[in-house]
Amino acid sequence: MTRTFDLRSGRPVWMAYRAPSVPCTRLRRDARTDVLVVGMGISGAMVAESLTAAGFRVILVDRRGPMLGSTPASTALVQYEIDVPLTRLTRSLGRGRSEQAWRRSRLAVANLSARIDELGISCGKVDRSSLLLTGNDLGAGGLRAEAEARRAAGLYAEYLTRARLQERFGIARAGAILSPGNLALDPRQLTAGLLLCAIERGARCHAPTKATIIEAGRDRVTVATADGPVISAAHVILATGYELTELVPTKAHAVISTWAIATRAQPRALWPEEALIWESSDPYLYLRTTGDGRIICGGEDEEFADESARDALIPTKTARLSAKLARLFPSVDPRPEFAWTGAFGTTRTGLPLIGKLPGDPRVHAVMGYGGNGITFSRIAAEIVRADLTGATDADAALFAFEA
Ligand SMILES: Cc1cc2nc3c(=O)[nH]c(=O)nc-3n(C[C@H](O)[C@H](O)[C@H](O)COP(=O)(O)OP(=O)(O)OC[C@H]3O[C@@H](n4cnc5c(N)ncnc54)[C@H](O)[C@@H]3O)c2cc1C
Repeated sequence: MTRTFDLRSGRPVWMAYRAPSVPCTRLRRDARTDVLVVGMGISGAMVAESLTAAGFRVILVDRRGPMLGSTPASTALVQYEIDVPLTRLTRSLGRGRSEQAWRRSRLAVANLSARIDELGISCGKVDRSSLLLTGNDLGAGGLRAEAEARRAAGLYAEYLTRARLQERFGIARAGAILSPGNLALDPRQLTAGLLLCAIERGARCHAPTKATIIEAGRDRVTVATADGPVISAAHVILATGYELTELVPTKAHAVISTWAIATRAQPRALWPEEALIWESSDPYLYLRTTGDGRIICGGEDEEFADESARDALIPTKTARLSAKLARLFPSVDPRPEFAWTGAFGTTRTGLPLIGKLPGDPRVHAVMGYGGNGITFSRIAAEIVRADLTGATDADAALFAFEA
């Protein structure tokens, strides 16, 4: 049913921290449920938590197991700032829709943060401001215009001149946009926490269980699994990450490759406020810290998806990320203790595709995509819940699949 590929390799930094284990069993007989969620990464976990809270009976399946797809590779900067700048998105979507997408993204991060607190999930969540530095894509003029566009959309953004940036953060660049209200967290711990909440409300997790064929009827959807049992559900949510099903239109979506490193813990060497840092450049660079003071640094994206070419580049990309980190902060120890790589989804607009599949109103696809994957998973959980409870989500049309 889904395209299968090696989503990541190397050793992500999250392997250094314990995440609670999520009890799963193998599916041995046919099952019937309100909602079947295919995929136990961050997207499936958010959807399952949200739907069980709304009273739905939920079954989850994953052909690998919980948190074994792209989710543990995520560097988990949970930002509302969409990869495509507001000024640029306005050129393709118009001002109204672009501002709507940016504002929804801002709301999603705030909602996610509140929900994590409400559920008491321990996942190292911290509020962080972010700094978008000038680079070879947007320079000082471009970033000033971007900050103005964000403010006009009602999103607080402060432009820092070279002098202010140097004085407040010790970074030598032409300028930056400072934005409060983003998050950093541990993606495995968050996913496990959400799955455990769903299980407490009666959700059942089956793994390794691979969904193979989906047959959508008028009243129910039947999903065959590789081991034989069949699941009948009123609704199916495909939260299969970058392994898309044949049912999902793929024209708007491309899979590329990305790399990341994490240094040793060096809490005394970190920059002020431990802001999330990203750069308006191609290739892209971004940084965050962990609770114990490691520096995570990622980017260096390449426009290909081939896994062996991607893996072969780990030493080169690791050296490059480490060198860029040393240039930005000459006093930190830039040597990597962890280095990893993974597949990464992109769309032309930077926006995800979320919603019912054209022609299959009982099958939803939830595709978080690239740099804002976790934020978009939250938006997906909100849209799916509204759809299944008969409510209206004012922004659903922005992310919907074309009919
Ligand atoms: C190096 C890197 C850095 C990143 N950094 C960030 C970041 O800083 N911030 C951010 O927001 N996002 C980031 N992302 C993106 C983020 O990781 C993804 O958006 C997110 O993990 C996707 O989660 P998911 O649950 O949709 O997919 P996954 O975690 O891949 O889960 C999908 C699951 O579906 C299962 N599956 C697939 N097909 C089937 C089937 N037929 N039957 C049963 N199960 C199936 C798979 O086994 C998998 O476990 C990064 C990604 C990478 C690779």
